[in-house]
Amino acid sequence: MQCFTKAGFCQGEKLAANADLSAVAKARGIDFFLVAFVDLRGVLRTKMVPSSAIKQIQRDGAGFAPAATWLDFGPHAADLLVMPDASTLLQVPFSPELAVVMGDCFIEGKEVAQSPRAVLKAQIAEAQKRGYVLKSGVEAEFFILSAQNDSISDERDIQSKPCYDAQSMMRRYALLADIVKTLNACDFGVYQTDHEDANGQFEINWHYRDCLTTADQHVFFKWAVKTLAERHGFRATFMPRPFSNLSGNGCHIHCSLWSGEKNVFEGKESISDLALQFLGGVLAKAPSFCAVTNPTVNSYKRLNGAATASGYTWSPNRVSWSGNNRSHMVRVPDNDRFELRLADGAVLELLGVHMVHEKQTATHYSRVYSKISTFYGWQVNPYLLPALMMACGFWGIDTKADPAKCSFPANVNMYEIPDGSPKLEGIASLPRNLIDATRALESDKDLSALLGADFMRAFIKLQKLEWADFSAHLSTWELMQTLDC
Ligand code: ADP
Ligand code: MG
Ligand code: MG
Ligand code: MG
Ligand code: MG
Repeated sequence: MQCFTKAGFCQGEKLAANADLSAVAKARGIDFFLVAFVDLRGVLRTKMVPSSAIKQIQRDGAGFAPAATWLDFGPHAADLLVMPDASTLLQVPFSPELAVVMGDCFIEGKEVAQSPRAVLKAQIAEAQKRGYVLKSGVEAEFFILSAQNDSISDERDIQSKPCYDAQSMMRRYALLADIVKTLNACDFGVYQTDHEDANGQFEINWHYRDCLTTADQHVFFKWAVKTLAERHGFRATFMPRPFSNLSGNGCHIHCSLWSGEKNVFEGKESISDLALQFLGGVLAKAPSFCAVTNPTVNSYKRLNGAATASGYTWSPNRVSWSGNNRSHMVRVPDNDRFELRLADGAVLELLGVHMVHEKQTATHYSRVYSKISTFYGWQVNPYLLPALMMACGFWGIDTKADPAKCSFPANVNMYEIPDGSPKLEGIASLPRNLIDATRALESDKDLSALLGADFMRAFIKLQKLEWADFSAHLSTWELMQTLDC
């Protein structure tokens, strides 16, 4: 099945933030707008607005009850009004009568400081004051699952080293081609797609941009991947570690810092001294910001993860870096950027998968499944990830942070250094679970000052609630371990 309907579809010119969307609708044949924002758990929330009403929504905002989303508000809070930022408009190539437009969140005339896009914009303003623009590219890995039972959709995709396998890719060619055509018709500049290291896992890479554009694109990317997967009869997931025997979904971020046309991270043989200080800040703060980059209970089954069928988890265990070496938390693939390999693609314990494998009753399964569906969008937050890079990077520049103490020669395989080895002296470990990560975040006063107290309070509250919910959940593991004791 091909869903891509309009051959030669071309996205119109990029709009100004306050462009008249009603006129744009007429000119481009748009019937509906999805006016959208992302909450603290990365869930994409939207109102579907017919083009006849977009003028009024552009003036007054689209209204939401904030307590009905993952933002920290009570039921008594006034309406959250989402003001469309017309510069983000993407007409949907596979449904050209529909357009997606991201918005900014306001309550009673004030921007909601805890909203992720506002957190990123505050860091962008700080960067601007310093004369810089952060450019970023993300690699949001995902699995294509069967819509019926959440197992890997392709039952012939069973090799122990399936990475780059051509035949497994061809069996999902129709869906992947639809996704890539969609993204390229939205000017993403996709340059490659591959089968990744786990069975059923894929990655699509597109050209890096200023970090706000990349973050908005990252949101659209996940929406398009999930929507097209559903149209093709599958289910796509960005969850960090949906299968305990397979590599998880990472969401690496590549970063470079620009002053006008000049990439100030570019050094001679490796990255510049300024880039090293920026990186020093990111490394020093990694154990504290893990609760944001790796925000779910399930995230910690990817970090510090058990070995996989392919041989490697490809995810980090400790705060270390080197040159072009994928066994570290940070890789420096070239002399003009670094890559943080910490963040993950999504966030929750996909209990349903295990329930199905363990042949639980249909009622038990559907109860758990409905909870999963509720949390389905909770993933590394596309806005918070680059916001953290800037907050910690500029802190690193200001404090002249030195990354040298976390560095290793390029030929070291980090996975082969056992815990307790003298080689690890002074090398920080990453948190082992969500509550340790959350407490580390809470006790880091620098991060609170850098990211804003409003955001920090709301985010930590949410993470503590999540841990309490998880702790209250009676798992099959507990039953297996203790029922007969
Ligand atoms: P790998 O798998 O080797 O880490 P990929 O090609 O999958 O690399 O992804 C690289 C990402 O880095 C892409 O999004 C790319 O656009 C981005 N990128 C490349 N150069 C830069 C740069 N100078 N600054 C920021 N991002 C970059
Ligand atoms: Mg109502
Ligand atoms: Mg890649
Ligand atoms: Mg990858
Ligand atoms: Mg990578």
